[in-house]
Amino acid sequence: MPLYESLRPMPELRVLVTAGASGIGACIARAFHEAGSRVHVCDIDRAALDRLVTDTPGITGSMADVSVAADVDQVFDDVRGCLGGLDVLINNAGIAGPTGPIESLDAGGWERTVSVNLNSQFFFARRAVPLLQQSENPVLISMSSVAGRLGYAFRTPYASTKWAIVGLTKSLATELGPQGIRVNAILPGVVEGERMDGVIASRAAALGIGIDQMREQYLQKISLRRMVSAEDVAAMALFLCSPAARNLSGQAISVDGNLEYL
Ligand code: NAD
Repeated sequence: MPLYESLRPMPELRVLVTAGASGIGACIARAFHEAGSRVHVCDIDRAALDRLVTDTPGITGSMADVSVAADVDQVFDDVRGCLGGLDVLINNAGIAGPTGPIESLDAGGWERTVSVNLNSQFFFARRAVPLLQQSENPVLISMSSVAGRLGYAFRTPYASTKWAIVGLTKSLATELGPQGIRVNAILPGVVEGERMDGVIASRAAALGIGIDQMREQYLQKISLRRMVSAEDVAAMALFLCSPAARNLSGQAISVDGNLEYL
């Protein structure tokens, strides 16, 4: 088989993408759909979910708050109905959390960030594994961040959860490897789009500087001097589900143009 053929994801994978109605998750969902996979997404935003499943016939969806175990159970009931099993879990959900000095942060913001970013990973992984054990090509991908390999001042709740996801990835790769289940984390850097616009605005306000100046500061941290796109992240997810990645597990893979510091 030519090398490039082995870079395509396995055909007809059954894929679940959490928080897949918009942003990076929707881009990943569409990429797998276009590659011939059967895709189910869940999301908390009804309007965004309706838009995605209407615009992309074939993709199915469930309403769910990923931080609520009962909602996650309902998603897996839907996955059984819509996909009949599961080959790939993409644990993508994550919120930015509060921005500010640690002494100014309240417990609610901390707890919500841990619930959505970390507890959800646990809820989805524990329900997915029995299905992945039945799959011929089982893959679990978790969305960490460059904030999962670097310290991130004023974003402590977010960075803490993203480092924890790397620990979860390493542990699950060790635990599930003997069953043939590959587990990896993707660490996106500065991804262009609405979410990053919001992050830059919050950080500019926290530091008392202008938004343009803040944006320029972000670019100066990136060796390639450009942001990455959601498509770059989706391409990595596709690659991780391809035959070429059959021996990749337990890795935390950055897609960030070499973000040098935060
Ligand atoms: P986003 O803010 O664009 O949100 C994507 C989706 O998450 C939305 O449809 C939203 O409704 C859904 N969502 C939010 N809370 C939810 C909940 N509790 N339950 C279910 N769905 C929920 O996010 P994004 O920028 O696409 O980021 C996706 C992942 O990538 C996150 O884990 C994020 O931390 C990570 N990441 C993003 C960037 C970036 O620059 N955008 C960089 C590094 C890592």
